[in-house]
Amino acid sequence: MNRAPVLCVAAHPDDEVLGVGGTLAAHAQAGARVVVLILSEGEAEKLPGTPKSDDRRGCAEAAAAALGVSEVVYADLPDQRFDAVPFIEVIKPIEAVVQRVRPEIVYTHHRGDANTDHQIAFKATYAACRPISSVGRSVRRLLSYEAPSTTEQAPGFPEYVFVPNVFVDITATWDAKVQALDAYASELIAWPHPRSLRYIEALATVRGGQGGLRIAEAFTLVRESIDPAN
Ligand SMILES: [Zn+2]
Repeated sequence: MNRAPVLCVAAHPDDEVLGVGGTLAAHAQAGARVVVLILSEGEAEKLPGTPKSDDRRGCAEAAAAALGVSEVVYADLPDQRFDAVPFIEVIKPIEAVVQRVRPEIVYTHHRGDANTDHQIAFKATYAACRPISSVGRSVRRLLSYEAPSTTEQAPGFPEYVFVPNVFVDITATWDAKVQALDAYASELIAWPHPRSLRYIEALATVRGGQGGLRIAEAFTLVRESIDPAN
């Protein structure tokens, strides 16, 4: 992997670890500046008495430290209500980070996820990274990641299904991913829930096998812009 700046857009805290944690750690180990943008605190679905924002930020910071992430940026979109916000207000915080960080590689949600916030996060990231804009021009690769407990919960029709075509070996960073998942221990649920360590490990094993690797995270390539001179 090269050392170009990397941005991960996550709708809620923990999405970045579930979907792309091992890959972010690999980018960081290769010397890249890795920035995570969390669009919402992810509180609305929580039951009363569960950890509030400060704790979730604490979880996000601990996870980032485990992965070697340089910086976590927070936007204040309302959890599970991205569809109640003018679309431009979802794009703005993403554009601001893209403009400042100038990432070459951007990871975002899968457009077909069952979670509406994820769908909107995909659309907004795509808009912020469009190649004809001065902001999005730095982005050479835009990829979508899967998030256990929402990607596989979408309806089984072609327009929703996640069909990966990019695989990243995370054998060397699997331990860092598990440590980052530990930071979000309150978000993990016992097997057979997809947000269980057993499921996440099984998925990484399958993705590794599909990609001719050992343990992997998988992505769909949304856009790649190649300049043969660079
Ligand atoms: Zn989420």
